[in-house]
Amino acid sequence: MSKRDYYDILGVARGADEKEIKSAYRKLAVKYHPDKNPGDHEAEEKFKEAAEAYDVLSNPQKKQRYDQFGHAGNSASGGGYGGGMNMDDIFSQFGDIFGGGGHPFESFFGGGGGGSRGGRRVARGTNLRIKVKLTLEEIAKGVEKKVKVNKQVNCHTCDGSGAKDKSSFHTCNTCGGSGSVRRVTNTILGQMQTTSTCPTCNGEGVEITAKCTTCKGEGLERGEETIAINIPAGVSEGMQLSMSGKGNAAPRGGIAGDLIILVEEIPHEALKRDGLNVIYDLYINFVDATLGTSVEVPTIDGKAKIKIDPGTQAGKILRLKGKGIPEVNSYHKGDQLIYVNIWTPKAVSSDEKEILEKLKESPNFKPQPGKSEKSFFERIKEYFD
Ligand SMILES: [Zn+2]
Ligand SMILES: [Zn+2]
Repeated sequence: MSKRDYYDILGVARGADEKEIKSAYRKLAVKYHPDKNPGDHEAEEKFKEAAEAYDVLSNPQKKQRYDQFGHAGNSASGGGYGGGMNMDDIFSQFGDIFGGGGHPFESFFGGGGGGSRGGRRVARGTNLRIKVKLTLEEIAKGVEKKVKVNKQVNCHTCDGSGAKDKSSFHTCNTCGGSGSVRRVTNTILGQMQTTSTCPTCNGEGVEITAKCTTCKGEGLERGEETIAINIPAGVSEGMQLSMSGKGNAAPRGGIAGDLIILVEEIPHEALKRDGLNVIYDLYINFVDATLGTSVEVPTIDGKAKIKIDPGTQAGKILRLKGKGIPEVNSYHKGDQLIYVNIWTPKAVSSDEKEILEKLKESPNFKPQPGKSEKSFFERIKEYFD
């Protein structure tokens, strides 16, 4: 089905000005509003259609493209209405057309904004920040940490209401509990009602005549809570996790703040982290490097045995695939890289010196790097691959 012309939808002429467009949309929005037409699918489609037409014609750039190219003008760049607009978009974008409330459908149109659709202001607790120290093993596998948090909780005496008792806590007389007061004003669109926050109750909809003596009406007190925090595998130093509603409590049935968790890494005694990879510096003596051996190395899941080939050169990098750190929320995992260092004795006895002097004469001990020895650059590249 081809789309209807936006001017036809709003029932205005092509040369209509901003005011006419706005007024036409307002009439249609009231007529087809879902609150007025519950369950009427056709009305809902008409409501969406009008919102889309208004979105384009009320925006000078989109309107110009539409006038020039028709529906194609806004499909790719500015508009992007694949399957039409959804209701949330419509309400969030055009709530202002009714002056933010005072309208029969104010509950749908935000009632003055601030995230409280019903208009009543809801108290919000503050966010709480804590640090969590994690070992490399915990980071690699993910861990549940139980943390005792000192925070604001609801007052136990008044249960967070802030009132002395039940009789001193009642619906606000000024606003009748809605949290807002209405006022009629004259605008260019004619008489309109506007809404503002109730001055008596500060928008909370309730009034307290006698305050709780424990919390002095705040509804809050200090308390402790043990919170189980699920740390996903792969987090890193400085990363912040957040748990909604686990921060400081809010009084009078409000929404608690968030708990923000800052990740700190405890350095591992043998392994170093480099992004997703884990690095281990291995030292072997030159006899083992010459004859070959097998050695145990630490990994994040315990010890692993690795083979050192005869004739291994210093600086060789061995790779244990998949023994690194996983990427957060992914199946991708880093590797463990083992950097082979050859230990050169710092002191030798006279006997040892004699043997070494003798060995030095052998042609096998003369450095003769060939094609099989990787250059420094090649090794660096290999490391970063
Ligand atoms: Zn209290
Ligand atoms: Zn009030």
